[in-house]
Amino acid sequence: MKTKKVDAAGKFGARYGKKLRKNYIIVHKNKKIDWECPKCLKTTVKRESAGVWVCTSCGNKFAGKAYKPV
Ligand SMILES: [Zn+2]
Repeated sequence: MKTKKVDAAGKFGARYGKKLRKNYIIVHKNKKIDWECPKCLKTTVKRESAGVWVCTSCGNKFAGKAYKPV
């Protein structure tokens, strides 16, 4: 099943309001992207918690934005 526009927020159906679903799409997209580590330049950066990003390759932990490292 493929959804346009609603994208990953499609699982919510018509619930939770337009704004929340829109934000969810942004968050979900950023989560799927392989971010580059500023230290070893590998794309192995994962979001640990809000604003905290960690590189699974070199263990570099750094601060970034809540849902994206830069
Ligand atoms: Zn690294």
